[in-house]
Parts: sequence; C-alpha cells; structure tokens
Amino acid sequence: MKETRFDQIRDEAYKGNMQLPELGLVLFTFGNVSAVDRDAGVFAIKPSGVPYKELSPDKMVVVDFEGKTVDGTLRPSSDTLTHAVLYKNWKEIGGIVHTHSTYATAWAQTQTDIPILGTTHADHVTVDIPCAPPMDDSMIKGNYEHETGFQIINCLRDRKLSYTEVEMILVGNHAPFTWGKTMNKAVYNSAVLEAIAQMAFITKQVNPGASRLKDSLIKKHYERKHGPDSYYGQ
Ligand SMILES: [Zn+2]
Repeated sequence: MKETRFDQIRDEAYKGNMQLPELGLVLFTFGNVSAVDRDAGVFAIKPSGVPYKELSPDKMVVVDFEGKTVDGTLRPSSDTLTHAVLYKNWKEIGGIVHTHSTYATAWAQTQTDIPILGTTHADHVTVDIPCAPPMDDSMIKGNYEHETGFQIINCLRDRKLSYTEVEMILVGNHAPFTWGKTMNKAVYNSAVLEAIAQMAFITKQVNPGASRLKDSLIKKHYERKHGPDSYYGQ
C-alpha cells in the first residue's frame, strides 16, 4: 500500500468505524465515523455501503470541508456532507460519529429530548439531550445531507448550547450524531448516549412520572467535571 500524507486520519477513521460494531452500535453498514486533519483541511470517512468486515484504512475516503473527494477510490458515506458542515463550522472538533443505535434512535423518532434523570447523564451533559426538530420541507428538497448539518448547528444555537459542552444530539425522526475533540471522544460519546437513552427509557417505563435530576445535583456534577476543583474521572 502506498504511503500518503493522509495515513494518520485514515487509520483513525478506520479504528473508529471498527469500534461501532464492537460496541453494539450498528447493524449491517449503518453508521459512520470520521476523523479530521485541521492543518490539511480534510477529513477521512467511511466509504458508502461497504460492510464493516471488509473495511481497511486504505478504503477510508479523504474529503475536504465542501465534501469533495481529495483522495480515495470509493464513494464516501452518504452522510459526508453533514460531517463536512460540522467540521467547517465547529473548529474545535476532531471527530464525528453517526449511528442508528436502537435507544437513541427511538428517542429521535419520538422527537423528544432525553430528559436528564440521573447522574450518569449529568456526568457527561448537564442539560436534556436535545432533539433537533425535523427539517422544513424546503430544506428536505434541497441538499438534504448538507442541511442536516445546519439542522444540528441551528438546534444548538437556538437553545444557546455550546458544541464543546454538549457533544451529542438527536436528529428528529432520524438518529443521533456525536462529536468530540478527538475521534475517540466522539465514539465514546456515541456509546454513552446510547446508554443514557436506554436508562432514560427504562426509568420512564418503571415510573412515567420520574422527575428530572434536581438542580443542586446537576450543578454538583457539572462542577466536579468542570469547576476549579474538578475531580471527576471514573
Ligand atoms: Zn442516518
């Protein structure tokens, strides 16, 4: 295999994608992970429609922030433009993950935010996990995957949430997207989101009236992670 300057992001994207089936977050070819090279202004992403067991680092497609293929022979994932929009607008992210993991996707299909019900949730995100409303018909008729990126960005902006604080979202009637400073953090967030979604679902089954975590506990968990005296790390 010839060496290219994109070997590092190809390798990262490959490793990230291979974690999705291991973590039980994908079926068949669902899902995609990308990893960015900020200096080169490109990211590597899974090719479209290739089963996980047939993936290899050299099959990862390198594209720019307009979604144009820079290096690679396969067609990039159909969600590539969504990744491109997020990398272009959010300068501090290093990786993005999209899955159709069962519980997070089920919440997305109900167009409901995942309420903050416990400390597992609060250790990662101190607000309800936002569910972006389904896009307008004009956006659906336009460049759909490109618009999905803006659907995500607009949802956080409208709710005055920072992408560096809230690294996960549900896209209404579709499925989750997660991101992070690194590809590994983005994959981690994807697994955490699925766990939070499952716990919230069961909690509401056991007691539909279960109340949100009280503010003092949310604040405590926020501060132990972010405050001057932060000490969180299991
Ligand atoms: Zn999808």
